[in-house]
Amino acid sequence: MTIGIISHPDCLLHEMGSMHPEQPARLRVINEALSKSDLKADLKMYEAILATRQQLERVHDIAYVEQVFHASPARGLIGLDADTWMNPYTLKAALRAAGAVIQGVDLVLSGEVKSVFCNVRPPGHHAEKNHAMGFCFFNNIAVGAAHALEQHQLKRIAIVDFDVHHGNGTEDIFAKDSRVLFCSSFQHPFYPFSGAETKNQHIINVPLPIGATGKVFREKVTSQWLEQLKDFQPEMIFISAGFDAHAKDQLSNTALHEEDYAWVTQKIKAIADEVCQGRIVSVLEGGYALDVLGRCVVAHVDALNIS
Ligand SMILES: [Zn+2]
Repeated sequence: MTIGIISHPDCLLHEMGSMHPEQPARLRVINEALSKSDLKADLKMYEAILATRQQLERVHDIAYVEQVFHASPARGLIGLDADTWMNPYTLKAALRAAGAVIQGVDLVLSGEVKSVFCNVRPPGHHAEKNHAMGFCFFNNIAVGAAHALEQHQLKRIAIVDFDVHHGNGTEDIFAKDSRVLFCSSFQHPFYPFSGAETKNQHIINVPLPIGATGKVFREKVTSQWLEQLKDFQPEMIFISAGFDAHAKDQLSNTALHEEDYAWVTQKIKAIADEVCQGRIVSVLEGGYALDVLGRCVVAHVDALNIS
């Protein structure tokens, strides 16, 4: 079984300052770990395409897309919020990151690969319809999901988000679209302080207490996500794969490990195999502990590979 890995050198050129945790080295450690792993024979590498403005405008306001294009600096850094900065290469990296998910959808639906992992940055799940925040400019996974719904006419898709931060942008974009089931687990209370109050049948938010271990995470996912994910019968499953709930990650206070990422991926994969021919498009979100990020992604991709 072949898994597509989609990335692009442009994604390494976006930088927000040497002290910023969302840095190019994240993609490098992932690439290195994947190329050294036993998985290598099953992986097919692709260079990400650029998303078009029309594809972005399926989920973002036209004026917001224009604002990001217009803000792109010729030199130096320009801030769109306190921790989300553009350098001269950011716009192209952001278009590659969103384009990768579109390409992933096309590759999986054409049957060329069974599933896809997009090793891209900037991340996307905090980007709202008309608002950049939390290191995110365009909501990559939402752009890909909208492509599956509009271009490929899928009737139901699911997005599972296990990043330690609530996927507020994805919720913002799909809150009124019942074709999309969104399942998000996140530390709470914690940035961006949203999600815990949501009352919506197709938005399933699972707040995790500070200090949550893998055991707590597994219990909550089992009791609150898995059955609903299966019952929804999605035609494709997207994963916002953030690895910042890891015990070693400085940005959070939860204690997940590589095995927990393998576990949750296996559970999602088993449902995908049962209801949608195993179609999964996974997209990197957070994960800032460079010494474990590569191992987390290998555990995740390895679990996608099990039949
Ligand atoms: Zn995060």
